[in-house]
Amino acid sequence: MIYPWGDERRFNSYKRFLSHKFGTRVQKLTIDAGFTCPNRDGSVGTGGCTYCLNDAFNPSYCQPAKSVAQQLAEGVEFHVNRYRRAGAYLAYFQAFSNTYAPLEILKEIYAPALNNPAICGLIVGTRPDCIDESKLDFFASLQRRLFVSIEYGVESCDDRTLRRINRGHDFAAAVRAIQMTAERGIHCAAHFIYGLPGETPDTWFRDLHSINELPINGIKFHQLQLIKGTPMIQDFAQHPADFYFFDQPSYIDFIVKITERLNPAFVIERFAGEVPPRFLYQNTWGTVRYDVVLQNIEKKMVELDTWQGKALNH
Ligand code: SF4
Repeated sequence: MIYPWGDERRFNSYKRFLSHKFGTRVQKLTIDAGFTCPNRDGSVGTGGCTYCLNDAFNPSYCQPAKSVAQQLAEGVEFHVNRYRRAGAYLAYFQAFSNTYAPLEILKEIYAPALNNPAICGLIVGTRPDCIDESKLDFFASLQRRLFVSIEYGVESCDDRTLRRINRGHDFAAAVRAIQMTAERGIHCAAHFIYGLPGETPDTWFRDLHSINELPINGIKFHQLQLIKGTPMIQDFAQHPADFYFFDQPSYIDFIVKITERLNPAFVIERFAGEVPPRFLYQNTWGTVRYDVVLQNIEKKMVELDTWQGKALNH
């Protein structure tokens, strides 16, 4: 069966989206351009989001001591040696808040990626409160020659949760940023975490109604992983009953149910997070890699004969 997004996979996959858009296999190169974050430097908050340790989320080739040009060159070399199949590359500005600087500085930071002929697009991860009209106008102008995606950390639709994890913005700020991005026709993705304190599967199924209404193109889901050395460890030690953790089989059952209730227009860019085990405070998933988790999700969809958005039609 061919699903509405145009292939036989049971969800609207990012891999299909990219290969359809670029006509070749596309590889992301993760860049750490040395940004910080207003939730760490005191302009919005200090201490950061309680779950955040950026070192846990960055690949080893990516270090801010190296220039953006050098990280891109090393990233291309790494992937050429390892995979050999990528026909084009996307520069993924991932670490911290990658629009947290005046526009003129941002232009200088992105320039090595914009001027590199191997790069066919930019993916820019940021906070909803680190964007404004002029930055979005700049990104919109870039779209004439390359793909641009802005990726917002939304994390939760519930303001109580956002306060508890010290996000420093509310859900309305995320909705505003997403709307401003969508109005300019810029590809926009949103990131959510399942397992934040005080939330349960009932919260997440309820919040899907709000998520399905967002004018986003892509979506990423992560299960909460407790990272050593983060303030969330203390919250967990004091209120363990407030945390809902999934083992891998129960997460797969859960995320399949979420997927069947998810807007089929959304490209699913990730179903789950993957952090090197040495960073984890507790490891309930063992050493299973994301590609195995993805295979298990797709197997479960076949077993249940379900697909993205199926439950919305009934
Ligand atoms: S906004 Fe991002 S980089 Fe800043 S503290 Fe939160 S998770 Fe970390």
